[in-house]
Amino acid sequence: MNMRDFLHEANFVAGQWVQADAGERMVVTDKANGSVIGHIPVSGAAETRRAIDAAHVAFTSFSKLTAGERAGMLQSLAGVIRNHADALAELLTNEQGKPFAEAKGEVLIGASYIQWFAEEARRVYGETIPSPWADRRMLVVREPVGVFAAITPWNFPFSMLARKVGAGLAAGCTCVVKPSEFTPYCGLVWAQLAQMAGIPDGVINILTGDAAAIGEEMTSNDKVRKITFTGSTRVGKLLAERAGAAMKRFSMELGGNAPFIVFDDADLDAAVEGAMAAKYRNAGQTCVCTNRFYVQRGIYDEFAEKMAEKVVGLKVAPGMEEGAMQGPLINEAAIAKVEDHIADALAKGGVLKIGGKRHELGGNFFAPTLITAGHQEMKVAREETFGPLSVLIPFDQEEEAIAMANDTEYGLAAYFYTRDLGRTFRVGSALEYGMIGINAGIITTEVAPFGGVKDSGQGREGGRQGLDDYLNVKYLSIAGI
Ligand code: NAP
Repeated sequence: MNMRDFLHEANFVAGQWVQADAGERMVVTDKANGSVIGHIPVSGAAETRRAIDAAHVAFTSFSKLTAGERAGMLQSLAGVIRNHADALAELLTNEQGKPFAEAKGEVLIGASYIQWFAEEARRVYGETIPSPWADRRMLVVREPVGVFAAITPWNFPFSMLARKVGAGLAAGCTCVVKPSEFTPYCGLVWAQLAQMAGIPDGVINILTGDAAAIGEEMTSNDKVRKITFTGSTRVGKLLAERAGAAMKRFSMELGGNAPFIVFDDADLDAAVEGAMAAKYRNAGQTCVCTNRFYVQRGIYDEFAEKMAEKVVGLKVAPGMEEGAMQGPLINEAAIAKVEDHIADALAKGGVLKIGGKRHELGGNFFAPTLITAGHQEMKVAREETFGPLSVLIPFDQEEEAIAMANDTEYGLAAYFYTRDLGRTFRVGSALEYGMIGINAGIITTEVAPFGGVKDSGQGREGGRQGLDDYLNVKYLSIAGI
């Protein structure tokens, strides 16, 4: 099967491919060349309501399956994804832009999340409590929350959904999903994958369209018991407010502004390698991307030289081209934001070392950029850039680096490089972040809890903790024993 076999231009509700009521459609483009890949439905509240109804009906039977039965379905789903990883990766590269090798990595980690939750499905343990009453037994059980609504972003359109679908289905929930209009096919394809894996109709319903209208219905409909969102802090706060008002559970995986600290005792080559992975993967469009590098003054110049060499070596090319290391950005607005942050940094005393402009390939391609002589008052140090721009900021003392790293409303991921054991624990505990990479630039794995603090959201995806957000705790007090 090839990419076209996995491309669906319709919503999937109660096991049927359907168009939006008014028949309205919007176009989806190839991010490397702007050509049309296909069209998708523009759905609104009415279509969302029907998708929620379908999930609600399916919940009755799906939630009653044994954990082993659900685990078996998820195991098959992971297998189906792995068997078709190349075609799925091609679809992802076309609509998102990232290099094929990265896209395949995303598809495979998506399969790993599903596999992980298939395994965890069988370990939803409860507990017994020593009773204060002689004639009673007290049990605590964990039950699926019900129908959940999932909204996903365009930067990891396949794996972000895997984390939600895997955990939710493992818990016994059913769902309604809205992928991003920029990368809808990597969302819609889950309907086909679910069918291939034998997951019952109505368990996964997917629709595309008017984000605000769909989000409004998801957060106000009584049949939805939980909202799970990955995307910007702005939209996350809006949805959290509405979900909170309707007393729905919610988990929010939001924006970040990851610091990357290099101490003068670090293994410099390892730090540069980690820096490149933490920064330029997905053209700098990841929520755990480093935005700002704090480099201790004694090694600052050497680090800058070594990093510049690597940045120059990045091959910018369409994602399907052999050897591509950085594809296009998602759209013109993304380019404009990178340009704004560069102009701001240079106006505030930054020194342009590499790049700094649109790439000669044109379109949404941008040259990998490195700026030195950075400081904390630059936009790049304060906002999420979401593009291939690095700024190096010198520091002298450990406390100074920690203070600058924590000086942000975000708290998703942070990184630091050191070979000092005491510093490892000191800095690891002082950084106000949900995830810390120590001598590591890539930390995402299905076996660990992914998520942030402060404005980066709440809830965890992956790890043993990933199931908690999809389970309610119920206490049974059994008297008259
Ligand atoms: P976004 O603009 O917030 O969009 C995310 C999703 O929300 C999309 O599906 C979007 O739909 C939808 N949406 C937009 N407005 C909405 C509304 N009023 N109601 C309901 N849904 C709405 O974010 P993005 O630009 O796609 O993604 C980039 C952001 O995601 C970055 O901030 C990044 O850090 C964050 N992110 C976080 C994590 C994490 O795990 N913490 C992971 C990946 C990305 P349309 O696209 O169709 O408009």
